[in-house]
Amino acid sequence: MIDVLVIGGGNAALCAALVAREAGASVLMLESAPPEWRGGNSVHTRNLRCMHDAPQDVLTEAYPEDEYWADLLKVTGGITDEHLARIAIRDSSQCRDWMRKHGARFQSSLSGTLHLSRTNAFFLGGGKALVNAYYRSAERLGVQIRYEAKTTALEFDGKRFVAARLESGERIEATVCVIASGGFESNIDWLREAWGPPADNFLIRGTRYNQGVMLRALIDAGADAIGDPKQCHAVAIDARAPLYDGGISTRVDSVSLGIVVNRDGHRFYDEGEDFWPKRYAIWGRLVAQEPDQVGFSIIDAKAIGRFMPPVFPGERADSLPQLARQLGLPEDTLLETVRQFNAACRPGHFDHAVLDDCVTEGITPPKTHWARPIDTPPFYGYPLRPGITFTYLGVKVDDRTRVHFGGAPSPNLLAAGEVMAGNVLGKGYLAGIGMTIGTAFGRIAGAEAARIVGLSSDQVQEKNRAAIG
Ligand SMILES: Cc1cc2nc3c(=O)[nH]c(=O)nc-3n(C[C@H](O)[C@H](O)[C@H](O)COP(=O)(O)OP(=O)(O)OC[C@H]3O[C@@H](n4cnc5c(N)ncnc54)[C@H](O)[C@@H]3O)c2cc1C
Repeated sequence: MIDVLVIGGGNAALCAALVAREAGASVLMLESAPPEWRGGNSVHTRNLRCMHDAPQDVLTEAYPEDEYWADLLKVTGGITDEHLARIAIRDSSQCRDWMRKHGARFQSSLSGTLHLSRTNAFFLGGGKALVNAYYRSAERLGVQIRYEAKTTALEFDGKRFVAARLESGERIEATVCVIASGGFESNIDWLREAWGPPADNFLIRGTRYNQGVMLRALIDAGADAIGDPKQCHAVAIDARAPLYDGGISTRVDSVSLGIVVNRDGHRFYDEGEDFWPKRYAIWGRLVAQEPDQVGFSIIDAKAIGRFMPPVFPGERADSLPQLARQLGLPEDTLLETVRQFNAACRPGHFDHAVLDDCVTEGITPPKTHWARPIDTPPFYGYPLRPGITFTYLGVKVDDRTRVHFGGAPSPNLLAAGEVMAGNVLGKGYLAGIGMTIGTAFGRIAGAEAARIVGLSSDQVQEKNRAAIG
């Protein structure tokens, strides 16, 4: 029988598998996806948020524990477990050496609309390179990996994990099981249960393989759930993006530099409320609440070169009426919206790197920073749709990643990554914390699994000794 069964094939699963294997356990990892799509949402990531008390290789200044914690408290509105959160924060200050040992490489942060050089360490080659490095390391260490191994059911004896069943019908027993199978964001039917018919117009930014099958199995088996099924991280992405796996390149970062209108040509929210990295995560939800779940980011020539260009070029036109026609927007309404907006812009000193004094006056909604008239051709427009990054519903765990049933921990069922991230992140988002949580609790799960295996084999030896004599 295998010692440690890891269900999932992304960052959290790999961290758990590597640590358990390093400790000497036999490890089998089950990845739903075929090899070319392995790695879940982790392949789409770019960085992890790291605590540090002084400048480090790719990180500038300092980002102390209490500031990190205060940032988390703010975005979650207090819906977080401080004990678990501080474990993840502290781990982020020391995990990078271990990551490097398994092939991770880091680079300085990118410039542009993100202001992350102080807080986030970027992966050289992105999450895809990180995940590939971890897979190579896992293979070298002797972790057994099976692809297209979708797990559909779990067997329990009370709270004790007994076996997992694959879609093929195969049954696999293990001493310990680590669930690291992500959220349920790729399951449109489940999203529709939470959001109703608008979910049919959502696009999924990451893998199609996070269908929430294991999450459902855990909840059905009586595991304590945590997080609101309706909460999801959603950003505004290019409406021309594919249904799955559009990734980071389909995000539209021009919002704070212009205006956003809905299907009917009306503005609906303050585009300059705060720095873009602190606001992009609310725009998916905002667009989701508009008719037909569409929006349009409209900018003029002054914005070009000030944001990361998305993979699809914007519609380009020499006049606003022409742009309206190209985007399928009501021409008169768009022109009136722009006229009112332009008239409301107060003169100020434009500076996209600070919360500047370019504001509107006398219109609703206001634009509170970076408000400049849209008057310089050519004009550009990007169609927007809600892009779901991940869901928040998960299972309750303790500081050893043990899944809880009716308030008590399972002796051998652990969970790491997005499937338990709701313990730390009840709502909101802090860029880079998904990988911090997965790396910290993935590694804890690996160590805990090895510890349980050690205990179990001790017990087996004891039983053998008793039997012998
Ligand atoms: C476009 C995008 C950009 C992002 N950028 C960042 C970033 O820069 N920094 C950051 O911190 N976070 C980022 N995130 C969030 C981040 O991706 C997640 O927090 C993190 O990857 C979660 O890791 P995980 O291992 O829990 O899940 P995943 O990496 O999603 O892995 C889940 C795995 O489980 C497998 N699986 C699912 N169901 C089953 C089953 N039934 N049987 C077997 N296997 C199964 C999947 O195939 C997959 O391999 C981003 C997300 C997206 C979509």
